[in-house]
Amino acid sequence: MDSPQAPPRGSSSVAARPLLQVQNISCNYELERAVFDLSLTVNRGEQVCLLGPSGCGKTTVLRAIAGFHPVLTGGIFINDQQVSAAGAMVPPEARRVGMVFQDHALFPHLSVQQNVASGLRQFSARDRKEAVADMLERMGLTRHAKRYPHELSGGQQQRVALARALAPRPLLLLMDEPFSNLDQELRERMGQEVSDMLKESDITCVMVTHDQNDAFALGDKVGVMEDGAIVQWDTPYNLYHRPQNHFVADFIGNGIFLTGELCSANRVTTPLGNLDSGTALGWVVGSQVEVLIRPDDVIYDSQGPVKAQVMRRAFKGAEIMYTLRTSSQITLLALFPSHANFEIGDEVSVRLEVDHLVVFARESESA
Ligand code: ATP
Repeated sequence: MDSPQAPPRGSSSVAARPLLQVQNISCNYELERAVFDLSLTVNRGEQVCLLGPSGCGKTTVLRAIAGFHPVLTGGIFINDQQVSAAGAMVPPEARRVGMVFQDHALFPHLSVQQNVASGLRQFSARDRKEAVADMLERMGLTRHAKRYPHELSGGQQQRVALARALAPRPLLLLMDEPFSNLDQELRERMGQEVSDMLKESDITCVMVTHDQNDAFALGDKVGVMEDGAIVQWDTPYNLYHRPQNHFVADFIGNGIFLTGELCSANRVTTPLGNLDSGTALGWVVGSQVEVLIRPDDVIYDSQGPVKAQVMRRAFKGAEIMYTLRTSSQITLLALFPSHANFEIGDEVSVRLEVDHLVVFARESESA
């Protein structure tokens, strides 16, 4: 069953107006294509992420939005002003965008307050002082104002980079893998903190990352990219539960694919039993398909019809992720509450309970 959909975070009548429109852009490096016919729209106050494997073109899109990379076709509009088109580029400093980079790129010889002030040369001395003090306070950096970057922790440096990008009050914040230099725990905390801060301040943001946890922590909408194109633009919930193709299903979350065959309009026979989608799947009976099975679709049940052996286990606190092998040699991932505590080699019984049946035509079938 679907849970009722909450309105997207940051939604309001104001947020429904587009701030950034990227329309059918293509970008090359020399003759090599990096981005092809890509479009996206970001409303005011929305935070979106581009997520994809290394080399899929995420940074190139961000650089094109910032004005560091030209577009060969299409156009980019910020606040209804065209800033990029083939042969025409408004310079980065005239776009009112703030950038946060992976390595923070702080000036090592400047103190925290001087770093934050460095983007405010066009402000009067008084306004600059006020803007710096305000940003330092909002970022919890006031007591570190006189320190130098090497005297700060990774998370504090990250906050300075954010403060510096936001101090000139940009229309749009662009972040390129901003959390990748932080350890896992800090990364999660910063992701949440930054998301809260951007929401509170109603800041529109585009982030690129290859890490889905970062994307899900920050993104109202996430665009999954493959080979220079967005293959699905959706909420984190839908990307996980309703991936539109095999690539997205594979890239987002964990899971395995079971082969199957349609035995009725909405039922699939698999080696581990029949699964019902509740609605017609759109293929004729007998079609060869593959079905996505997520770890949370595999339920521990001492009376369950599927017997399997524990091959691997990864303790995650409240839950344990098991790799199981069924007697028919099918490998499954299963996420059990951690009181279902088994050792490698143990036999367990499971059943499949798939709320959102994700089915794709098998490749040989769709060819
Ligand atoms: P990553 O996550 O590794 O940073 P990405 O998704 O951001 O990757 P891009 O940096 O946008 O990908 O690169 C897209 C494509 O363009 C890749 O094939 C890359 O090799 C190529 N590319 C990127 N920068 C250059 C460059 N300066 N010269 C030539 N090719 C480049």
